[in-house]
Amino acid sequence: MHISAALSRIAPSQTTAMTDRATQLREAGRDIISLSVGEPDFATPPHVLDAAKAALDGGDTKYTPVGGTSRLKQAAALHFARDLGIEVPTSQVTVSAGGKQAIFHAMLATMSEGDEAIVPAPWWVSYPEIIRFAGGKVVPLHTHAKDNFRFTAADLEAQIGPRTQWLLLNSPGNPTGACYPAEMLLGIGEVLRHHPRILILSDDIYAPINYTGARHATLANLCPDLADRILTISGVSKSHAMTGFRIGVAAGPEWLIKAMERLQSHSSGNPCSISQAAAVAAFEGPQEFLAEWCERFRARRDLVVGAINAIPGLSTPTPDGAFYCMVDAAPLMERFGDDARLALHLLDHGVAIVPASAFGHRDGFRISFAADEAKLVEACKRIAEAVA
Ligand code: GLU
Repeated sequence: MHISAALSRIAPSQTTAMTDRATQLREAGRDIISLSVGEPDFATPPHVLDAAKAALDGGDTKYTPVGGTSRLKQAAALHFARDLGIEVPTSQVTVSAGGKQAIFHAMLATMSEGDEAIVPAPWWVSYPEIIRFAGGKVVPLHTHAKDNFRFTAADLEAQIGPRTQWLLLNSPGNPTGACYPAEMLLGIGEVLRHHPRILILSDDIYAPINYTGARHATLANLCPDLADRILTISGVSKSHAMTGFRIGVAAGPEWLIKAMERLQSHSSGNPCSISQAAAVAAFEGPQEFLAEWCERFRARRDLVVGAINAIPGLSTPTPDGAFYCMVDAAPLMERFGDDARLALHLLDHGVAIVPASAFGHRDGFRISFAADEAKLVEACKRIAEAVA
């Protein structure tokens, strides 16, 4: 084995590992309900599929520009302006193989040994691993269920040091569903004004899945004077049920977009040409169904939150967005030891979830409620029986 120092610093993604494990068990004949991966179960909209088929039939099967076709960059710029209130020229937009790759390239392109990134916890599994791989140091900003898993401007100020290079924001958030309202982001922006070295990554991939009734709030829109150091991530995976297409888009300062594309020219090259054509249709086609999907997610959220809070030993706050809830199982830890063992126990009872420790948290687990109602009801019943 010849593992690099950089790879030795990181662990495999536990969201994908748990999902693979559930698939293996299913293939071996076990009845497993997987609530582990964050993936909408809805069918990809037909107009998107039609665009993909037309691209195939039209011979759109060759290399494209590394950072995406100009057609998709235009469609992405339209999406940033229309849906997030961020006006950018196409020179400040890039396309990658999922939002994950954009984040990977942004961190690799900017972090040097010892630079620090402040990451609110519970965090999405890949943020800290990407930062460590890039040579950076993760500075956790712990948040708590009692605060709906949100940090304040004062909490942020306390974590900033001379080596802080990045702040990661994710609203609506994975794995907690936390949403930052405009007033909180304005306070955070005010702190950042006093620290001009800090870059901000705003991961807005879950923007359309917001149950608060308020318009999605994002830093580049609210604080335009900071926009030259904000990289906003979006995409079609979660909004348009296109996870397998692997298309993420990013908007930010031109120097950073160019740096990310320089790296991408040597890693994957361009994102899939067929997927890019499908993403144009996603951004430019009908958007009305997004509100209807969001309502369906809201009903599933209410179902899961109600069922989990009725199980002795388990509790969860009501998430404001995305399709996850972070369940606290602290009262059960004396019996189970830790949340990894609890996750295995639940798997034995036919439900795959991801332990809280995968997200920089503890004593609980994340449920993805992007599954149909019948599965959610059955999964909650199995969880109740498993912990009884
Ligand atoms: N972002 C999703 C999740 O958290 C997809 C899997 C992944 O890339 O982590 O489940």
